[in-house]
Order: sequence, then structure tokens, then C-alpha cells
Amino acid sequence: MTEKFTVDENRLKAVEDNYKSVKSRVEEAALKAGRNPADVRLMAVTKTVESVYINKVLDLGADLIGENRVQEYLGKKDELHLDNVEKHLIGHLQTNKVKQIVGEVDMIESVDSVKLATEINRVSKNKGLVTNILVEVNVGKEDSKSGIYIEQLEELLNEIALMSNIKVKGLMTIPPICDSEKEVSQYFSTMYQSFIDIRDKKIDNIDMEILSMGMSGDFEAAIANGSNIVRVGSSIFGARKYF
Ligand SMILES: *Cc1c(COP(=O)(O)O)cnc(C)c1O
Repeated sequence: MTEKFTVDENRLKAVEDNYKSVKSRVEEAALKAGRNPADVRLMAVTKTVESVYINKVLDLGADLIGENRVQEYLGKKDELHLDNVEKHLIGHLQTNKVKQIVGEVDMIESVDSVKLATEINRVSKNKGLVTNILVEVNVGKEDSKSGIYIEQLEELLNEIALMSNIKVKGLMTIPPICDSEKEVSQYFSTMYQSFIDIRDKKIDNIDMEILSMGMSGDFEAAIANGSNIVRVGSSIFGARKYF
């Protein structure tokens, strides 16, 4: 972001309208699924978005944001209106960045290996913290995506359960891009089934409370299939520009 930055008033207004519209679509999807709208949280995904537009949704009452990159988040957090706002890291996390992010966010949603969990646990212990995490599942077994396969989930959870400075709060996934709502719903439904199965096993130190799934293109299908955090970026902030 080296160019001089000017606020685009039209975009600011669009972000406001988009946020309100997505918020009501989330509520309607919950009602349609016979669920309490209060049980489904809307996360504003803020990657590549300048602070002024993020603050617009925060001022409108958004209480949960998700960032992908450690550096980007640390660079803009001081400009954000973050009082009473929950911050989650949702992007792939390298072990060498763990030191910088532990203690800066309320949850790391993208834990997908014992190695990464071990490092988060070690750093959390050094800082005197317990870090809340979600385990990321690669539900479509795509090479291009992070996350562990669903078949390996329980084994990973059993190992993380032994780590005293990590608290597992649930699961996160990004399904494959699908042509139809029906197709994507099968992935969401698989995730929900697994979420319930694990919850019912009541593993020590593992809370299955959060199922984070659904993005701009598919959040209604995710809500119909039990998601309780939908992560929405472009439908709120517009198409992303990469710098
Ligand atoms: C970018 C991103 C999102 C939001 O995607 P949109 O399609 O723009 O809503 C959600 N989750 C993760 C992990 C992301 O990286």
C-alpha cells in the first residue's frame, strides 16, 4: 500500500448497504433452517481491506472479524475500532509466525497439524496464555487447500487434547468450489455430522461449540447445515484487490 490513499465515499456507502443486507440474509437463512438467528454469527473477513472500510462495519455493530495474514493484521490493528470485537486468524499459519500472533487474536481457526499446535501451545505457555483454536478440515481433500482430512481429525484432536495451553473450540472448513447449492451442501453436511459425532464423544479438553463454515457464495447453505460462524468478505467489502 504505497500509493496515496483516499477514502472512496461511494464504496463506504456500498459497504454499509452490503453489510446490512448480508446481516439480514444470515438471519433469514437461520430462520428458514428453523434455527435461532442469535446462534449464527457473522464474521467480517477483512483481508486486503483498508481500515476505514473495516471501521464502517465495526461502527455498524460487527463484533467479529477474520484476518488471513499475521503481518497484515498486525499492521492495521491499531487503526481499527476493536473495542468489544472478537478477532480470529483464519488464514494458513506458518510455525515461524506463531510467536507474533499468539495473544493478538481471540482465536486461531486454521490449525491443521500437530506441529503447528505444538508451537502454539509452547508460545502460549511462555506468554502465560491459553489460546482458543479451531481445527481446519480439508473436507474436499483438495491439494490446493490446507486442513486435515476428516479421517485424521480424531487422531489430531486426541493429541491436541493433551496440550494444556490450547483449547479446541470446534472446526473450520472451506469446501471445494461447487456448481450447485446441493453439491456444496453435501460437504457442509459431512462436516456437521463429524462435528456432532466428536461432540458426543466428549473428549477431555475438547469443546465442540463452533462450526465455522460458509463464505460469500455459500453461507446460506452452510447455515442450513449447522454452521454457527459464517465468514464473509467480498459480499460485504466488494471484490478484493491484491497489492
Ligand atoms: C477470504 C476468506 C473468506 C471470505 O471469502 P469471501 O468469498 O470473500 O466471502 C472466508 N474464509 C477464509 C478462510 C478466507 O480466506
